[in-house]
Amino acid sequence: MAPSENPNRIAWLQGPSAKCDVVPQCYSRPWRLVLLGPPGVGKGTQADLLNRRLHACHLSTGDVFRSAGSQPEPSPAMTEALAHMRRGELVPDETVWKIVSERTSCLTCAGGFILDGFPRTLAQAVSLQTMLGTHEVPLHAVLNYSLPTDQIVKRLGGRRTCEKCKAVYHVNDRPPKIENRCDRCDSKLLQREDDRPESIEVRLEAYTQSTEPLIEYYKKLDLLVQVDGSGSAEDIFARTILNLGSVRKVEFARELWVYGQE
Ligand code: AMP
Repeated sequence: MAPSENPNRIAWLQGPSAKCDVVPQCYSRPWRLVLLGPPGVGKGTQADLLNRRLHACHLSTGDVFRSAGSQPEPSPAMTEALAHMRRGELVPDETVWKIVSERTSCLTCAGGFILDGFPRTLAQAVSLQTMLGTHEVPLHAVLNYSLPTDQIVKRLGGRRTCEKCKAVYHVNDRPPKIENRCDRCDSKLLQREDDRPESIEVRLEAYTQSTEPLIEYYKKLDLLVQVDGSGSAEDIFARTILNLGSVRKVEFARELWVYGQE
């Protein structure tokens, strides 16, 4: 599959009744990855870069909530989820799991997946393992990105996201070619509500309390791959590919370097 035919994740963003324009059919070895790490460490950007390299779909639960928030009439459960999100709190597990389990077809898709922002609690991680086990689609690796807190706060404050295609920029470290316009689709760039200082603190606390324990969980499953999240997006991506390659069999890892290089 050529990069221009990358899946556009419509079924993930809009729900299972919507169909992706391009559905991968013929992958012999799709990649199935989870990206872990504190908010602002750059998971979204790395997921985007990995998607362009490996063509597995970038599945972000945060994007599902934001997408639902821009609908004229979000459901009561979604309205409640959005209120949690604005405050920087985690959305309750039941709501998150309902959304993810409705999208099982995205997780069993022949193109594979790159999960970003899910799972975020032990309960979510266990549910995911059970679901993947039932469908016999095992995870290949969990990439855990780490960065000191002061750098995280700097990254979150300068982050801007395309209102349409969700591409991620940073006012200093990854600026768009034209100020406040997306390089890819020329739409407006916005600061996320939960990237404001009052929400950042709450999100970091939620990460420490609820998400950090997943590091041990995936370590025990022998899936954890550590990645230093410092430096430019390109530096981090090079480390990601290197570290991912080191845990795969040689012929499988070769796909990382050969396909989709831009
Ligand atoms: P993200 O874009 O991944 O940073 O997610 C933005 C916000 O959406 C989070 O701060 C949470 O409020 C909510 N959210 C996204 N994914 C999850 C999840 N797996 N569990 C709980 N809340 C989530």
